[in-house]
Amino acid sequence: MKDIDIENAVARVLSGYTGPAETPAPAPASKPGTTGCVWETVKAVDPVDDIIGGMLTRALGERNCSNCKAGDCQGKAGCLSISDAEALELGDGVFATMDEAVNAAAEAQRKYLFCTMGDRKRFVEGIRAIFTDEAVLERISRLTVEQTGMGNLAHKIIKNRLAAEKTPGVEDLTTEAQSGDDGLTLVELSPFGVIGAITPTTNPTETVICNSIGMLAAGNAAVFSPHPRAKGVSLLAIKLINRKLAALGAPANLVVTVQAPSIDNTNAMMAHPQVRMLVATGGPGIVRTVMSTGKKAIGAGAGNPPVVVDETADIPKAAQDIVNGASFDNNMPCIAEKEVIVVDQAADFLISEMQRNGAWLASDPSVVERLAQLVLTEKGGPQTGCVGKSAAWLLGQIGIQVGPDVRLIILETTKDHPFVQEELMMPILPVVRVPDVDTAIDLAVDLEHGNRHTAMMHSTNVRKLTKMAKLIQTTIFVKNGPSYAGIGVGGEGYTTFTIAGPTGEGLTSPRSFARRRKCVMVEALNVR
Ligand code: NAD
Repeated sequence: MKDIDIENAVARVLSGYTGPAETPAPAPASKPGTTGCVWETVKAVDPVDDIIGGMLTRALGERNCSNCKAGDCQGKAGCLSISDAEALELGDGVFATMDEAVNAAAEAQRKYLFCTMGDRKRFVEGIRAIFTDEAVLERISRLTVEQTGMGNLAHKIIKNRLAAEKTPGVEDLTTEAQSGDDGLTLVELSPFGVIGAITPTTNPTETVICNSIGMLAAGNAAVFSPHPRAKGVSLLAIKLINRKLAALGAPANLVVTVQAPSIDNTNAMMAHPQVRMLVATGGPGIVRTVMSTGKKAIGAGAGNPPVVVDETADIPKAAQDIVNGASFDNNMPCIAEKEVIVVDQAADFLISEMQRNGAWLASDPSVVERLAQLVLTEKGGPQTGCVGKSAAWLLGQIGIQVGPDVRLIILETTKDHPFVQEELMMPILPVVRVPDVDTAIDLAVDLEHGNRHTAMMHSTNVRKLTKMAKLIQTTIFVKNGPSYAGIGVGGEGYTTFTIAGPTGEGLTSPRSFARRRKCVMVEALNVR
């Protein structure tokens, strides 16, 4: 857009626009090859307005769905129906090349600058509405388990719903003001522009939902680089968002991706000059990569969350919480309990209570050895094929049959064992016995590896709880609860699926995807 066009557009808004009446909507145009909704187009009546997509002269969200002819259907399952095969086709935010995807997002973001905060709120509510629909939730969760071969359907449904319901929206963007004799200064949270978001295989749709809400609430457009193994379901989620946003009258292509996600495409996205910020949710490799691009980067990396249990804890509750947290989605969440450090005095009781709650104790050293051979690579890291598998599946692979009531495998070992040192992301939870709580805290700090991610402690000794919180410096510290309380399941506070320890934003929310910009009005608007 030319400067004069922007000036004219802004002038029209400021003068309380009184433009000509809208022309009636033309007959609905069919989009070849799609079976879902096709939205009637409303031609903008003003040449300036035309340039910014008719934002100024027509009420947003008034287009009718040509599928069901309703103006208010906006996302009922039928109108958002996209087959699994159709999810992989071009269109609805899916582009053939990264260059096309980024350019489309950049154009969308410029138009988005002219939407109101009320519009942003509606778009965010629209995204929430898609992914709180039971049928959609069940489908994307089932597809994720099928496509990635990881995780647990019921828990994926909980995680996707959580992302849709509890990711903060525009209310997160608060303005600072300073006024005085020299006038009025506002510090506003403004968009970065186009954000490149890299998503993990362990939370493919949860991250798309959470990042889309947060980035759009802050006025950005998002270009996603999904994990190739979760391609189908990630593209489906992105298409569902695009159709819904189209129904609500948003600029097209605010959320985009490429048809064939790959490392090359991720690299192209990171290098694209129109991408102003990068957000990597994944392992240490991709976090290091985005941090070395020279662009503003948010790195949400790996964790190895320890859980400390001391002799003052409510042991039956601690055991139940630990088994629940560590078995949630087969231990894939980056926040999930990855090793237990328990004081000797409470250890036997804790282990027996964990067994009562669905943990299977591997007490035979040869079983532990066979498990290690199954799940560890030669370098000692987790075998990808075992990540996110169930406890029954893992035991079945070494010839031990257990019922579905077994949710977690536990074993006693020493602090140097790879099960303790490595982030396994499978329901195998090592238990390390220590003489006292101070030793437990020191070991927990060591095993967290400085990720600043997540830790848990079960204790009724507030001084020791405080000591551990201060020393471990994690973004999330859960006291006397399961790890998932830290992302808002049974614990207070909002959720995020991008927990940025390495770059320091911590629990990301819309304000993490915004820049602090200063607007200074000199010698005016101070009314004190
Ligand atoms: P991963 O690092 O293998 O992949 C993450 C993403 O980065 C994928 O989209 C992948 O395609 C891409 N990628 C990886 N290496 C790349 C490279 N060299 N060049 C370009 N792109 C590359 O991680 P994963 O297995 O998908 O996810 C699990 C990891 O993510 C765990 O370590 C987990 O702790 C972490 N995680 C962190 C958070 C958080 O909020 N901190 C949330 C979820 C997962």
